Amino acid sequence: MTNDTQSPSLTDGFHLVIDALKHNDIDTIFGLVGIPITDLARLAQAEGMRFIGFRHEQHAGNAAAIAGYMTQKPGICLTVSAPGFLNGLTALANATTNCFPMILISGSSEREIVDLQQGDYEEMDQLNAAKQYAKAAYRINKAEDIGIGIARAIRAAVSGRPGGVYLDLPAQLLGQSLDAALGKKSLVKVVDPVPRQIPAPDSVKRALDLLKGAKRPLILLGKGAAYAQADADIRAFVEKSGIPYLPMSMAKGLLPDTHVQSASAARSYVLAEADVVVLIGARLNWLLSHGKGKTWGAPKQFIQIDISPTEIDSNVAIAAPVIGDIGSCVAALLAGLDAGHSKPSAEWTGAIAERKDKNLTKMAATLDQNPSPMNFHSALRAIRDVLKTHPDINLVNEGANTLDYARSIIDQYQPRKRFDSGTWGIMGIGMGYAIGAAVTSGLPVVAIEGDSAFGFSGMELETICRYQLPIVTIVFNNNGVYKGCDANLNPNVKNDVPVTAFVKGARYDKMIEAFGGIGYHVATPAELTKALTEAIASGKPALINAVIDEAAGTESGRLTTLNPKSGATKK
Ligand code: ADP
Ligand code: MG
Repeated sequence: MTNDTQSPSLTDGFHLVIDALKHNDIDTIFGLVGIPITDLARLAQAEGMRFIGFRHEQHAGNAAAIAGYMTQKPGICLTVSAPGFLNGLTALANATTNCFPMILISGSSEREIVDLQQGDYEEMDQLNAAKQYAKAAYRINKAEDIGIGIARAIRAAVSGRPGGVYLDLPAQLLGQSLDAALGKKSLVKVVDPVPRQIPAPDSVKRALDLLKGAKRPLILLGKGAAYAQADADIRAFVEKSGIPYLPMSMAKGLLPDTHVQSASAARSYVLAEADVVVLIGARLNWLLSHGKGKTWGAPKQFIQIDISPTEIDSNVAIAAPVIGDIGSCVAALLAGLDAGHSKPSAEWTGAIAERKDKNLTKMAATLDQNPSPMNFHSALRAIRDVLKTHPDINLVNEGANTLDYARSIIDQYQPRKRFDSGTWGIMGIGMGYAIGAAVTSGLPVVAIEGDSAFGFSGMELETICRYQLPIVTIVFNNNGVYKGCDANLNPNVKNDVPVTAFVKGARYDKMIEAFGGIGYHVATPAELTKALTEAIASGKPALINAVIDEAAGTESGRLTTLNPKSGATKK
């Protein structure tokens, strides 16, 4: 341990925090400096950690969360007190909701002043605020507890169902000094942070028995399956069982989307018709219509593989829960299959293939059109064809129509390469996820962004340029939220703008030029192809402003039913 601020026999809270993180092989911090953590960031850098400084804490938090999803190690986000903490809290809550492991570390004001509400600089009871949005929340008060406190935070973030952990570091803790030898001894290396959790054999047998009797089985892969890094066994289970599968959006690429058993192009059909559904790391939440209703059609029985026992029976009755880590559960099912499994009938797989062919032919016709101005489909066709030649590229995607269309048009070929709005269906993850993915993987990122979605994190273009990250952002510019062609409804202020509108013909490409990045302005698929090809090849920060027909989108994308309408404005 180096210690240049104190006598050689002493260490302090600053050093111990960095030492404790490094001791657990954490090498990167995403954050934003200020009182009281500026020196903590400096020290991290001096001690060989990477500190990636953002312009807003929410995006630093999102970067940390996606780093956690990609690596099974908690991503670290460091913020200042009160407002900085609250900005980071959105990302922490999002990480918890999505089951991504991250630790939000925030400096905080003096306890005795906060607790008596005497009005400190950036005063706030952050620990209590964080509790309800985090998987766990801790405060460290004594320098000698830093080692155990960080170990506790790491274990809470990654063990069992992963999630966001809040760690409160009061300013006075950072300055506390401690005998260096004692400090060194107080560090804790977390042993087996992500322990295997082996499923009970009778639960595996129950699941296999149910599967044996299935006439129209279906496998549903969620992002928990992608997170688990059990890629080979999952693929073997799908292929050996012969069961058609559907990937949830972030599970795309776990098997290549071009796989013959993928039922994505017949999604509605298989959801409605299947009789036994194997959920692997996917929750029956709103994204799956809560497992009931018209979407799910015929009655069905569920096998659910999950690490969290309380996920079972959350929305509908689960006939065969298998609780454990996905790697162990899938391995056990796979081993059980060997004993005389018969593949699904040709009647079932044939019917799916027929639907798939029909839908793909229809989609191909739509994609082949060349309307002017470009619409979502023609723009995405151009992007799809370029990305086909870069199977290892990371893809970030958010928006309404931009998200819905890109999800179904852009194929993924490798696991954990698609990062999107996720469980909440939120906007604002774009540049944070893009930076987190680029820093973590060292590989290029393409972010396909609705113009509205991009706005939430657009200032992070400066961060991207500052660190010279190979991120190409494509803004689908249709002049507004959903569409750009609404009317102003205010009879009193005739020059006011519609509630969904932005500046018409905005040039987002000029934003990145302000920071030294490369801007492209494109209006046709051919121009988009050229710009994207060039931008990826350059390995430099770039932004492509893609002009999309402002009338092409639908309101709320595919979520129209979730957006109630008043009689007064209904069209
Ligand atoms: P999707 O939105 O893709 O359907 P969800 O986030 O809804 O995925 O579901 C992920 C599920 O995966 C959660 O219920 C979570 O508990 C589970 N999970 C996450 N990691 C693991 C793991 N390593 N082993 C088992 N289950 C996991
Ligand atoms: Mg738009």
